[in-house]
Amino acid sequence: MPGPRLVILGKQGAGKGTQAQRLAAHYRIPRISTGDMFRTAVEHNTEAGQKAQKYMEAGELVPDDVVIEMVEERLKDSDARRGFVLDGFPRNAEQARALDEALGRKAVDLVVELEVPTDVVLRRLASRRVCLNCGAPYSTDRPPAQNWTCDICGGAVVQREDDTEAAIARRLDVYTRQTEPLVAYYLGQDKLASVDGTGQPDQVTGRLLRGIDSRLNRRSGGTVDGDREEMG
Ligand code: ADP
Ligand code: ZN
Repeated sequence: MPGPRLVILGKQGAGKGTQAQRLAAHYRIPRISTGDMFRTAVEHNTEAGQKAQKYMEAGELVPDDVVIEMVEERLKDSDARRGFVLDGFPRNAEQARALDEALGRKAVDLVVELEVPTDVVLRRLASRRVCLNCGAPYSTDRPPAQNWTCDICGGAVVQREDDTEAAIARRLDVYTRQTEPLVAYYLGQDKLASVDGTGQPDQVTGRLLRGIDSRLNRRSGGTVDGDREEMG
């Protein structure tokens, strides 16, 4: 039975990565993170990585054609056929239109917006750490069990190079100007679910799952896959 096709929207530091990973595990769908894909591409010095690097360091968006092509290719992988959660894409109107076009009749089911006030995300970003190898999120409040090596894969857990104050300010500004308007875009398609992203990660996951399941069940009469255990 297929899982949902989801997009997760939210400011930098809203908890998108953490929550997208949990949704992916719950519905047994892949999490597709354009930020992680670009970080891997930069690390492996691929063509996409070379094109993306300077934008990422500056906290600016990588040009649409590069991102869109990368996501279109990724969505063709067989694991994405049973659903997906897109994390970090689309990020502007052009990308949203390209996604609609690429998916055609298998359109996105629901777009969840994680709402967190700016002062809270600024505090979270200062303490954010990430696994260089698999992208698993950590923070100085929730460090890995051992010596800044990833609990999942053993990779090095570090502060991201673009989590400097200047790059963060830049990204939040880009979010407000380019990504926030997508809320209205998806509201217009009757696909938006806004969820309070403050509080403990487990609490947020619980709110998300309840929000998603109630919305999708209402539309489809109960065909959403995934076990129903409560997570917080
Ligand atoms: P954050 O949400 O904290 O900005 P991400 O890991 O999602 O971090 O993205 C890191 C960087 O990768 C972005 O600042 C941007 O340069 C690039 N990037 C990721 N996704 C996109 C996208 N959809 N369009 C353009 N650039 C992107
Ligand atoms: Zn890891």
